[in-house]
Amino acid sequence: MLDYKLVTFLEGMIVIKEAVISFFEKLKSANRLYKLMAFSAISVILILVSVFSSGVKLTYNLIYNGNVFANVSSKEVYSQAVALAKTYVSGKEVDFSAIEIKKVVSINETTSTVEETSKLLLANNPTICSGFEVIVGGDVVGYVSDLEVYETAKNNKLSSYNVEGAQCTSSFLVNVSAKAAYFDVKNLSKAEDIEAAFAPLDVQTVAIVDSTYTVKYETVAQKDATKKAGYQQVITEGVHGSNKVVKETVYLNGVMVSDPVVTTTVLRAPVNEVILVGIKDVFVTTAPQNASSAGFVWPLSEKGVITAPYGELRGGGSRRHQGVDIGVPVGTSVVAVKGGTVIEEDYDSDYGYYVIIDHGNGMQTRYAHNSSNTVSVGQTISAGQLIALSGNTGRSTGPHLHFEVIINGRTTNPGYYLDLK
Ligand SMILES: [Zn+2]
Repeated sequence: MLDYKLVTFLEGMIVIKEAVISFFEKLKSANRLYKLMAFSAISVILILVSVFSSGVKLTYNLIYNGNVFANVSSKEVYSQAVALAKTYVSGKEVDFSAIEIKKVVSINETTSTVEETSKLLLANNPTICSGFEVIVGGDVVGYVSDLEVYETAKNNKLSSYNVEGAQCTSSFLVNVSAKAAYFDVKNLSKAEDIEAAFAPLDVQTVAIVDSTYTVKYETVAQKDATKKAGYQQVITEGVHGSNKVVKETVYLNGVMVSDPVVTTTVLRAPVNEVILVGIKDVFVTTAPQNASSAGFVWPLSEKGVITAPYGELRGGGSRRHQGVDIGVPVGTSVVAVKGGTVIEEDYDSDYGYYVIIDHGNGMQTRYAHNSSNTVSVGQTISAGQLIALSGNTGRSTGPHLHFEVIINGRTTNPGYYLDLK
């Protein structure tokens, strides 16, 4: 067989050789026009040979429903592309039997790679949809063709836990994601299916509320023994401060799970007002001339105005006013109602500067919201003696003296002791 082919080939070569020699012999004797025509013919043949040898190929068209959708170089490329396409399809065995393969002669036509062909196979299969798998905690719970459906369902669920007036960040406790995928068109989920898949998921919400509030300045009296009682001069203007409060609250499915974390930042510290107050020749009464029927000296050097009676409801009705409030200007002399011993002299966020005097037999009196105290603990005091300068410190809404009478540890109405009507 091989020998026969070789012989035929050699014989053919000899025939071609002889033909070429006789052709050139004839060409020698031919005129100019024939020579030109012969060269032209050879050139055309050479061009055709080179075109056919480089660009002409046998390829395979892939056809679906009469439409050529891909051209591949071999049947192997097609079968590899089918195998690859199957791996892309989520949760389904895909059928490519409707695809027709046709062998064609193509000239300089590009062919698709395995990867490209697999994508074309999927795009031209009407049972396959290109979209996204919706994954919850590692499990595929649905398929969407449009990512918007997934995003909307997710945002609707998360934003349903938003707290009004707060900046909220909500997230699922499990991992929820969408991944590009091909899937059976019959598995395409409806928006409500995706919403239903998200419905039972736990959502954590972090709500942040920012607020700024004013920090009231306090008025502090500075005693001046060289100035007479009644002398007052503001030496430092008070400036209110402001604080920024960030309250962060964590909710699980809309239920608060821990106490809010409150962070306070001082934006501007208040500047206390300082008043210079004269205390020279301060008002001191001598009991009992000025005293009430119970033997109490009026606790101030001025009459003042009763601005809140004992027992008034406070804090939205949760507690009662434990003393009587007597409105007087800051720096008014506060005096002991009865002789006794100073047992407390301190500052408190509610009472401000305050003094407690023990009068013996289980009776004590308290003087609060002072701008400064002028006595010290352990000091013996007589009725009418200066113990403090009135003010507006602590939880106070205006300059006044808060006066309490305490009997055996419990407050009682100071009105009985001061003859208030
Ligand atoms: Zn009060």
